[in-house]
Amino acid sequence: MAQSLHGGCACGAVRYETGAAPILMLNCHCRHCQQASGTAYAATVVLPGKAVKMTGELRYHRREGNKGFVERGFCPTCGSPVALKLDRLSDLIAVHAASLDDPAMYRPAMDIFTASAQPWDCMNPDLPKRPHGPQD
Ligand SMILES: [Zn+2]
Ligand SMILES: [Zn+2]
Repeated sequence: MAQSLHGGCACGAVRYETGAAPILMLNCHCRHCQQASGTAYAATVVLPGKAVKMTGELRYHRREGNKGFVERGFCPTCGSPVALKLDRLSDLIAVHAASLDDPAMYRPAMDIFTASAQPWDCMNPDLPKRPHGPQD
């Protein structure tokens, strides 16, 4: 069931790969994901951190989120958002779905932080909505 996932930034300076299956895939509509992605939401693939092999150097922007600090890793050369880390879930890493070499494999399980979604955001009505985060 483990499939190989690989991807990277737009310029190729940062690459990652893993043999681990995604733990969760979700669309985050919080303001921070809007700002970091430049659009309505961040499509993220949550992976076990230890199983992800990263080559190249991401620069991380650290910011306090709703429930602790979040670090957003982007390529310092091309600016592509690639990875996300949460202090309180330090064994996990999330990668942006569009950074995958095969983004079509992305299957989001839910929409989170929909309370801060923009009016021009088009969501799949069939997905569960969590207005204030993954648990609520
Ligand atoms: Zn790059
Ligand atoms: Zn978010």
